[in-house]
Amino acid sequence: MLNILFLVAHADDEALGPGGLIKKLTKNKSKVKLIVLSDGKITVRNKNVDNSKHLEKSAKILGIRNLSLLGYKDQIFEKYPISEIANSVLSHNFKPDIIITHSKSELNKDHSITLEVAKIIARPQKKKCSILSFDIPNNSFNNYKKFHPNFFVDISKEIKDKISAFRKYKNEIQKYPHPYSVGSLELIAKYYGFLSGYKYAEAYEIVKLYEDHLSFLKKN
Ligand SMILES: [Zn+2]
Repeated sequence: MLNILFLVAHADDEALGPGGLIKKLTKNKSKVKLIVLSDGKITVRNKNVDNSKHLEKSAKILGIRNLSLLGYKDQIFEKYPISEIANSVLSHNFKPDIIITHSKSELNKDHSITLEVAKIIARPQKKKCSILSFDIPNNSFNNYKKFHPNFFVDISKEIKDKISAFRKYKNEIQKYPHPYSVGSLELIAKYYGFLSGYKYAEAYEIVKLYEDHLSFLKKN
């Protein structure tokens, strides 16, 4: 069975980005781990907010049993040596076959650093490691860069759970047309569905993919 690592910067990225795929894989009884690089604490309108409890609830809905928060401070990942972050991920001893993480086109610096960490972990060694990337709503658009989806996942059966997971983030959820709203998440899934021919879809950009991992969505 393949080890699939979802590597995200912050608590909420797992629901906003790959929530549907996570649910699909956990329903298939795949070996899934979620690593969140931050400590789950953020400042919203000068108020300190702890999202780690919301993360636990979101993970429960998405069927994640193996979850770790690494404790790096939100929005200052560049202050840490990247090798230290990579070693911290590796210390969890979950040798991934596939890492699913942030796209190179995103504006948020923590997200870009998370992708760099994934690339370090996935350097060719004895074990091959593929990387797929996703876009957090509006992040690439706000960066004036294009996210180029070339891998589509049918989440028609998982869209409800994806949205329920995000709803747990009481501090993050906003009203439509904010990108972090229920309406926007639905619209994005419909848009990628319309592009790909599914009712609701999530879109990924392949960073690198080994033939050994092509069947990772098959039921176990
Ligand atoms: Zn984030």
